[in-house]
Amino acid sequence: MFTYAPPLARLIEELGKLPTIGPRTAQRLAFHMLGMSPEDAQALAEAILECKRRIRHCSVCGNITELDPCALCTNDQRDRSVICVVEDPRDIAAMERTREFKGVYHVLNGAISPLDGVGPDDLRIGELLHRVSTGDVREVIIATNPRVEGEATALYLAKVLKPLGVRVTRIAHGLPVGGDLEYADEVTLARALEGRREL
Ligand SMILES: [Zn+2]
Repeated sequence: MFTYAPPLARLIEELGKLPTIGPRTAQRLAFHMLGMSPEDAQALAEAILECKRRIRHCSVCGNITELDPCALCTNDQRDRSVICVVEDPRDIAAMERTREFKGVYHVLNGAISPLDGVGPDDLRIGELLHRVSTGDVREVIIATNPRVEGEATALYLAKVLKPLGVRVTRIAHGLPVGGDLEYADEVTLARALEGRREL
């Protein structure tokens, strides 16, 4: 059976571990990289390592950042009394593109999903409760994804947040059910934020 030289086989194997990259694509990318100039190959490898070295999670909101706390948490122009809860750091980028939200964020790092073995304790819910109970927070807007897991998470959060005396709202639908916030267009997401309802 034919096999590639070990360094090339290794590159194909590593690329094949990436999401959406099947064996054929991994092979195509590896051959492309083989044809790159040494400078370009170096730049690509260094970009990956640099990200791993310098990007961390904000200790306040959980966003990905180079500086901790992140630029959103330290921005004096942001309203700290309103926290928008999202599942993933990528959702922050989506919300920011709407230019409608002036508060701060809290990243859960997922959603409650019993089937996947993800419970409330696996998410950054304790950190959220701490922020709400120690800060001057008047509203928590829950912007989890419009899916079963996102809805279950929203209901759970409403249950644990309300006793703290904070207003809890959920962004409106109009977002595609089963979709990702990340892929929603700005107008739809801005409307969903505007039409949020009490939980
Ligand atoms: Zn932050």
